Amino acid sequence: MEFEIDEPLVQGIISDEYARARADIERLGPLSALAASQRCHDERLAGAADAGTLACKVGCFWCCYFTIDARAGEVLRILDFVAQNFSAAEQRRVREEIAANSAALSALDDSQRTRQNLKCPFLAQGACTIYEVRPQTCRNYHATNVAGCQQSFEEPDNEDIDPEFAPQVYQSGAAHVDAFTAAMRRTGYDSQAYEFNTALAAALAQPAATRARFDAKLRPFPTIEGFDVPYEFMDEDPG
Ligand code: SF4
Repeated sequence: MEFEIDEPLVQGIISDEYARARADIERLGPLSALAASQRCHDERLAGAADAGTLACKVGCFWCCYFTIDARAGEVLRILDFVAQNFSAAEQRRVREEIAANSAALSALDDSQRTRQNLKCPFLAQGACTIYEVRPQTCRNYHATNVAGCQQSFEEPDNEDIDPEFAPQVYQSGAAHVDAFTAAMRRTGYDSQAYEFNTALAAALAQPAATRARFDAKLRPFPTIEGFDVPYEFMDEDPG
């Protein structure tokens, strides 16, 4: 689906979020800054001019079977949330599903991986159990027609599916993520993306060391490969 870039909207969000995120990272640290950024992210999407056209709602979870990526800060926040809010039995179930998904995905290349349908370990009884701390990828929902999401699930090898989406919601979310990622990069923190399940498994295998490496601005997951996600609406890192 084609759309026209709303430059004033996109540039306004980039400059606002970049300045706010940089100040928050330096003042509060990266994880508290991420929490503030995630709250703002939700508000931007809810306030977008076409938010009323979204088809996404509780009980619809086709996209929770797609493989997604997450950043290290998001993984650490999720594991804190799980430790504080999940029962011992639920933590065990989640760990088992993470291990199974990670094992299934780790032998695949990027192209094969993106064509897998695997239930997210945090989807339970048809709802996201970590909604408050879900990754940016999940926060950027923008579908206006469930049929496109369902078709993507049913035909994972079909590269011609062109789902309908809300352009203002999409641009608001993508510009916000560009700016927060740039602020993390500029302040020296790891900003690479990692396959969600393998990053969770790596962090669970070495929780203290992962956190220490992240805080020290080192590669948090030495055993797995991350990658830089190209900016959607920025040409280069801000100064
Ligand atoms: S984290 Fe939540 S929203 Fe994201 S894929 Fe998993 S269950 Fe779905």
